[in-house]
Amino acid sequence: MPRKAPHQDPTARVGQQFALYRTRVGSRPIDRLTWALRLAQRPRDTITAADWENIRHEIAASLETSGHRGESVQSVHLPDVGEAQEIQVDLATFFGKLLRGEEIYPKPSLRRPTYRLNRGSGRWERWELGTPDLVDALLEVLIPAWGHLIRECAALRVRGKGEERCGTWFVAWRPYQIYCSARCHNRAGARAFRERAARRTNRRRARARSV
Ligand SMILES: [Zn+2]
Repeated sequence: MPRKAPHQDPTARVGQQFALYRTRVGSRPIDRLTWALRLAQRPRDTITAADWENIRHEIAASLETSGHRGESVQSVHLPDVGEAQEIQVDLATFFGKLLRGEEIYPKPSLRRPTYRLNRGSGRWERWELGTPDLVDALLEVLIPAWGHLIRECAALRVRGKGEERCGTWFVAWRPYQIYCSARCHNRAGARAFRERAARRTNRRRARARSV
């Protein structure tokens, strides 16, 4: 296929623009899933207008990498801020249901494939028209492959009351990973150590009393 100069080709320009955002999202599927989980959990009141600008480009970059089942890159959609905000809410709903083991019904997709002859290249291209549910498009490959690795952090909160858990959603890289971060892992480890030490002291005291 003959390469057009970048300034004549909107797809190439969008591609270059996405390069930065692709690295922010990550190239491996598990990185994209981690990115989606982080986005879903960002408190709305901490997201600035500049953040939304980044987020909507990250969504587009992630959609592009997801590849829409290998369809043409021209189907990549750059959501506006309103759509990005809706996607953030829908992602949170999606992952919440997933962690509760509930069935998830994405919004009905209005995808309309179209075949068009590209007269420049002389080749036929497949386009997707209409409005797919972008959350479904983002997750359709990731969830069947990696969804079972999504967990809720089991570590007790730093200054939480009683049994309050960290609860952060994360992708467990290792089968027995139950904490979201090294910080939570170390905190839980230190607590378990203190509890064991306390039990030992109690046993010693009990023995001393019984003698
Ligand atoms: Zn945690």
